[in-house]
Amino acid sequence: MSNRSVALVTGSSRGIGKAIALQLAKNGMDVAINYHSNDEKAQQVCSEIEQYGVNAIACKADVSSPEQVEAMLEKVEQELGSVSVLVNNAGLLKDNYLMMMSESQWDSVLDTNLKGAFLTSQLAIKNMIRARAGAILNIVSISGLVGTEGQANYAASKGGLIALTRSMSKELARYNIRVNAIAPGFISTEMIGQMKESIIEEQRKKVPLKRFGEAEEVGKLAGFMVSDDNSYMTGQTIVMDGGLSV
Ligand code: NAP
Repeated sequence: MSNRSVALVTGSSRGIGKAIALQLAKNGMDVAINYHSNDEKAQQVCSEIEQYGVNAIACKADVSSPEQVEAMLEKVEQELGSVSVLVNNAGLLKDNYLMMMSESQWDSVLDTNLKGAFLTSQLAIKNMIRARAGAILNIVSISGLVGTEGQANYAASKGGLIALTRSMSKELARYNIRVNAIAPGFISTEMIGQMKESIIEEQRKKVPLKRFGEAEEVGKLAGFMVSDDNSYMTGQTIVMDGGLSV
């Protein structure tokens, strides 16, 4: 076990989570890569991370399952050490208009995007409280601020996570644990690939900077937000959307 800081990034086998994990490794942290199903991609991310001279482990766990989250935290503790940086990034979309939304579409999105962050944070803070140090970053979405139509489940999950960020920041500040969020707009990942091409083009035109963001751009901001350079910010949600929500 090294004496480097240990970061756990949920949903980091691809997309924004992967970019954040790579950035944290570049910044000198050992990183635990959580994922749901894609073993191969998670292992690839670990190999990329090890090229920065730090340690990486892959942790398969559904963040909506209390048992799996508990086993994941134990594995990270044993193999890398206590988590001092947690990034709650795992998330999914199950878009539908409210009138047609099924209970399972609602539940799966709320369970992964919101309950997952609750379960993971609740266990990860135990050691942070003992250490009187830590940083938690929640990846939300502008959908949780503006309430995108056709995304009632997703918007509610991200709006809930913004509120959770604020509550956690107040409860945990006394232990020197900072809790913040990033609200990305459209970022080019597989998640966006689930949208229709015509909708993607329409949305791209609406972005003042006239392009979607790259996962690495979110990664760089995340690296700063959990670092000691950002020591006086807590409870905040920083929007990164090319100006879309302005
Ligand atoms: P993505 O490319 O679809 O990747 C999702 C990641 O989450 C994968 O690593 C996936 O693992 C993991 N995951 C999904 N369900 C999980 C579960 N139950 N337990 C553990 N891991 C799980 O998504 P992305 O675009 O990078 O999005 C990452 C985060 O940013 C999400 O919270 C999303 O809501 C948010 N966000 C994205 C955008 C955007 O435009 N892309 C905008 C705003 C906010 P597997 O590979 O194993 O399936």
